[in-house]
Amino acid sequence: MSRSRARLVLHGGAGALPDRDYGPQLAHMRGLIEAGRDRLAAGAAALDVVVETIAELEASGLYVAGRGASPNLAGVYELDASLMDGPSRAAGAVAALAGFASPIRAARAVMDTTPHVLLAGAGAAAFAAARGLEAIHDPDAWFTPVWSETEISASGSKVGTVGCLARDETGALAAGTSTGGTFCKLPGRVGDSPIPGAGVWADDTVAVSCTGEGEMFIRAAVAAQIAHRMRFGGETLAAAAQAALDEVGALGGDGGLIALSADGEIAMPFNSKGMKRACLDADGAITSQAF
Ligand code: ASP
Repeated sequence: MSRSRARLVLHGGAGALPDRDYGPQLAHMRGLIEAGRDRLAAGAAALDVVVETIAELEASGLYVAGRGASPNLAGVYELDASLMDGPSRAAGAVAALAGFASPIRAARAVMDTTPHVLLAGAGAAAFAAARGLEAIHDPDAWFTPVWSETEISASGSKVGTVGCLARDETGALAAGTSTGGTFCKLPGRVGDSPIPGAGVWADDTVAVSCTGEGEMFIRAAVAAQIAHRMRFGGETLAAAAQAALDEVGALGGDGGLIALSADGEIAMPFNSKGMKRACLDADGAITSQAF
């Protein structure tokens, strides 16, 4: 029997509190990996599995993305998401999107139905409404922020995000990232998550999704840097991922990333206090960890 080419890697955001129980997140991610594995085995495309998996992560309220996000300093829930298809390098993204339940579905619609890569703010919201995406009519009732104000100030934790990478049975890679952004962000602030080359990337070499202090990930062009180190520098996945993350650290930032190469290798480095993550490896084994 030929070996499956299916791979799936998730993160539930950088940063973890030592005294917090991440059992629910880890169990949820395992369940999503099992569901995604079965879809990939049945022939689903990596891109579709990434979108569906991230939509579940957003809807769960367990992570700082979608329903679990926190509002910005003006009390508005502005969310970012992005998606990239390896074989075509098609990309779609939304930034500072308010009023919609699933930013990753909006990113998919940008990819599929416009000539653009990234729509932001009011234009993104008008687009999502025109596409008939699920709207949130009462944000304060709908959102269930993962972190309380007290926890945010006590832990100093400023971030949270979800990401998903997949390789399907054809060998195609795809990547997606979705976030509520950093806590206490200014209205209009956009981090790395919706920016291809910064917080997301997929090509024929590698798929990447980042989490952490987005400003540093933009300044280090982390996701594209990993791809370029591998393509032009011949570095291994592990070396390229660690080197790019080290640049974030040198800039004073913390966070982590997940990366999946075309040959099925997985890297999940982080320099933050933990990173919720899970993966389906070459042996079909599923692992999930927070620290
Ligand atoms: N990178 C995200 C941002 O800066 C936050 C995170 O990953 O937790 O918006």
